[in-house]
Amino acid sequence: MADISFYTGEDIPLELHKVRIVQKLDLVPVERRAEAIREAGNNTFLLKNKDIFLDMLTDSGVNAMSDRQLAAMMIADDSYAGSATFTRLENKLEEIFGTKYFLPSHQGRAAENILAMTFVEKGSIIPMNYHFTTTKAHITRLGGSVVELITDEGVRLTSDNPFKGNFDLEKLEDLMKKEGKRIPFVRIEAGTNLIGGQPLSLENIISVADIAHKYKKLVVLDASLLQDNLYFIKTREESAKGLSIKDITKKIAEKMDIIYFSARKLGFARGGGISLHDRNLYLKMRELVPMFEGFLTYGGMSVREMEAMTVGLDETMDESVISQGPLFIKYMTDELVKLGVPVVTPAGGLGCHLDASRFIPHVRQEEYPAGALAAALYIAGGIRGMERGTISEQREEDGSEHLASVELLRLALPRRVFTLSQVKYAVDRIKWLYDHRDIVGGLRFVEEPSSLRFFFGRLEETSPWQDKLVKAFREDFKDSL
Ligand SMILES: *Cc1c(COP(=O)(O)O)cnc(C)c1O
Repeated sequence: MADISFYTGEDIPLELHKVRIVQKLDLVPVERRAEAIREAGNNTFLLKNKDIFLDMLTDSGVNAMSDRQLAAMMIADDSYAGSATFTRLENKLEEIFGTKYFLPSHQGRAAENILAMTFVEKGSIIPMNYHFTTTKAHITRLGGSVVELITDEGVRLTSDNPFKGNFDLEKLEDLMKKEGKRIPFVRIEAGTNLIGGQPLSLENIISVADIAHKYKKLVVLDASLLQDNLYFIKTREESAKGLSIKDITKKIAEKMDIIYFSARKLGFARGGGISLHDRNLYLKMRELVPMFEGFLTYGGMSVREMEAMTVGLDETMDESVISQGPLFIKYMTDELVKLGVPVVTPAGGLGCHLDASRFIPHVRQEEYPAGALAAALYIAGGIRGMERGTISEQREEDGSEHLASVELLRLALPRRVFTLSQVKYAVDRIKWLYDHRDIVGGLRFVEEPSSLRFFFGRLEETSPWQDKLVKAFREDFKDSL
């Protein structure tokens, strides 16, 4: 997606691709939507796809593939060992990251498992800009802990700071001095997922690596959301404007000891792996791959997906390909800001994030505003988002509720999947819901699993607000869906 301006002055992103395969969508009536969300226990993870119009749950494994990716899948080499498909993928990673070695894994969290089992022990501390759910789970499972070193600006919901994912370098130095012995590596998460897909600057990434190396620590990059971060460096960082996406990637990669990624995001396919420069580190981790993933030349992935990933990684180096996600997200975020709807700013990668605490301030945190907003938006528009608030937390050991620091509804925009009119529709229904926000009430658990409750938990409304919402919708939309 290039910077193409319109004669009439309209400011909209222009797609530089055409659609050649489509999937039919249905929008079921609002009455059915209210029934469906009740059947799903007010948990959007439990909705059935036939009831969903716009699936904005996640960007994981649901990005559109290119014609070149689909074509490459046809030449995949299925050999158990020595697959030519693996060699092509390994070579592509060497081309873009300069890394000589690659360990395949079935997805991102499997790479995290291998890293944690190799480097984390009881008492280890892993500094990072911000945690990701699966990363933290693997580290704490082995008795380690996570220390977040994001700048104060990073957790402010509304801001114009272009690099909210940056590390606070002073905090990193201090931690190195105080706890250096317990730190096996520093983890940098590109395109910081849980704070709204917010990037780090190239300058910050390099400084973090230099500090870590000064204290003789490894530097690990979680590159799952690197593609958005690359685009933001290119467009937001003055000193990087003259660099190509390939140059920026090289500059980052040469500073890293280990780069791992979820190819459900990076590379527009499904899978993952670990890329690295050093043979000794490679040998240290290698034996875990056949034990937990699969043989070294597929690591639990389908070879077809690996071919698609190789091409997808190549296409990731093309600015006009990777700009699509951020530009659509910016469009959606800007439109909502214009309409006065509370959203996280500046727009990041991954998706648009509604701030449920300001959207429905009358719903107490104990009644899960982000979860209630997710249910309400599904009723209002058949749009499925993901709760990122207190429901996504775990209770304390004494059973009390751990209130999340932010209550967000994440509306992911899988890359190249939605059209601009679909995004406009989402904005329209969000605005309608905002104008009827007083109707929206809270939720309470009726079935609460003891771990990962956001995946399987079931909730009900704390007062009969959902029927009122359906009634208000019918009054305004008459016969329209
Ligand atoms: C998705 C993601 C992971 C985990 O990858 P999976 O393929 O879902 O296992 C790790 N880190 C970040 C930043 C992610 O976005």
